[in-house]
Amino acid sequence: MANTRNIAFIGAGNMPQSIIGGMVRGGYPASAIYASNPSRPKLDTLAQKHGIHTSQDNLEVVKQADVIVLSVKPQLMADVCAHLREHVSDLADKLVITIAAGIRIEKYHQYLGDNVRIVRVMPNTPSLVGEGVSGLAADPQVTQDDKDFVTEVFDYVGKTIWVKDEDGIDVLGAVAGSGPAYFFEFMAGLQQVAEELGFSSEDARAMVQQTALGAAQMASQSDLSLVELRKQVTSKGGSTAKGIEAYQAAGLDDISARAVKAAVARNQEMA
Ligand code: NAP
Repeated sequence: MANTRNIAFIGAGNMPQSIIGGMVRGGYPASAIYASNPSRPKLDTLAQKHGIHTSQDNLEVVKQADVIVLSVKPQLMADVCAHLREHVSDLADKLVITIAAGIRIEKYHQYLGDNVRIVRVMPNTPSLVGEGVSGLAADPQVTQDDKDFVTEVFDYVGKTIWVKDEDGIDVLGAVAGSGPAYFFEFMAGLQQVAEELGFSSEDARAMVQQTALGAAQMASQSDLSLVELRKQVTSKGGSTAKGIEAYQAAGLDDISARAVKAAVARNQEMA
């Protein structure tokens, strides 16, 4: 474990709850974790489940923190940052992590000051079940020690990938952020055809879901490329080969490329 720092989450919604849960289960000391939120119930759950410090006052938790995680909705970010800048004199001594979608690092410097160290993180929704992918981008003032710390925090809820620059966050968002929806769409199509061919909805879903899980597990446990893995389960002249031929004839690779590029373009428009 990297050196423990006091870390304060501003906003205690779904994503910070998952990150905090992952950290505590992974052995990060609960006594070094703080969270603030306007309403009490989410804080009470966090305090009871994980034994962390909580407060309804953002400033109270920030004062205790070496690291601040901005976890409010993007539309609230400007106001939340303005409040911190007005009342916290040592912001430049703290590391600021933001998980809000669509706001670039440059904007946080406008909100919080030029000399604040900012790391932007884009976690995806499977982080909620500990199987996420987080894209991380840092401004040049962020130290290697800071980066190691942020990597450790997001490794608690999945895998972390540092991108070369913030454009990489837009691409990662289009692949990993939107990716669960692509997989659900594909899986729903498989379930539907299994039902049309005679299976109950329950059995069709179970076979699709378990197949997706099994394929992902096989990929994660293998050193082979995904193309090699695909070839391993495709005997020449067999039924899988016929299925793959149908996908290739319909241009599946091209469809994936168009989907990702459309999502990248939308991410860039929104940033
Ligand atoms: P969420 O569940 O809606 O939580 C937002 C929380 O912010 C709520 O608990 C809300 O409290 C609290 N809040 C509102 N005003 C506040 C203030 N002034 N100070 C402190 N807290 C305040 O949202 P989320 O899913 O956790 O998302 C949080 C951030 O993560 C967003 O910026 C989102 O873009 C980003 N993100 C989420 C996901 C995801 O899969 N969920 C993925 C990538 C990025 P009340 O309920 O009491 O109003």
